[in-house]
Amino acid sequence: MESQNNNLKGMVLRIERSSIHDGDGFRTVVFLKGCPLRCQWCSTPESQSFDIEKTAETVYGTEMTVDEVMKEVRKDSNFFFISKGGLTMSGGEILAQPDFTRAVLSSAHSECINTAIETSFYAPWETVRSVLRYVDTAYVDLKIFSSEMHKRYVGADNEIILKNLESTNEIDDDFRLVVRTPVIPGVNDSEQELESIGRFCSGLKHLHHSELLRYHKLGTATYAKLGRDYPLEGVEPPTLEQMEGYRDIVRRYVEKVI
Ligand code: SF4
Repeated sequence: MESQNNNLKGMVLRIERSSIHDGDGFRTVVFLKGCPLRCQWCSTPESQSFDIEKTAETVYGTEMTVDEVMKEVRKDSNFFFISKGGLTMSGGEILAQPDFTRAVLSSAHSECINTAIETSFYAPWETVRSVLRYVDTAYVDLKIFSSEMHKRYVGADNEIILKNLESTNEIDDDFRLVVRTPVIPGVNDSEQELESIGRFCSGLKHLHHSELLRYHKLGTATYAKLGRDYPLEGVEPPTLEQMEGYRDIVRRYVEKVI
């Protein structure tokens, strides 16, 4: 096993226990703070800056060591065992703090705690590869297929994300890949976009399933608290019927779409 610094510090936004939305079973989710992307629909704007932020009522962000995080994670090890749950690392972008992320995941892995990550894959391949060694399930966002639209709405090119997803085909280790697409009306809900995403996913050998996430406006109040404007003001969530139609498009290429 690789040597590990349990005193390594990372910038943590918060830790949530007993989540049922971030992987199998009951999970403890460690949200890191800091993200290089700027999705216009981001529901956690407080996770974007790498610095601690303060409003009148709340402080967003705290430095924690690997040891401190693992102490929190171990509190629910019995629930993990019963529910087939475990640890999920989320963000912000976990790959923007690769050493810390790797150290926490490797620590959990060495204790036989199931591990999942939620990430955009927006990082060099070497970083992605080194983290995936300790991951059972990777939830990766493929937000927009068109490079131009990705730049406009996410703030960066998607070339590195697509390449990293393709490079997972070279990995022989056993891990599950889940590709998630948040469906944003007027941005990526066209047949062409969803077909491109489905076709691309069909070539990923580790793909377990694809997920389409319905756009929501839950984070908008936090923009106001942080004194920022919400970029997608006026955009309404798609209906459930529309979501079913989007799912049918992706299903032309991927067997299991949730
Ligand atoms: S990648 Fe996630 S955390 Fe980063 S801006 Fe987009 S939605 Fe927000």
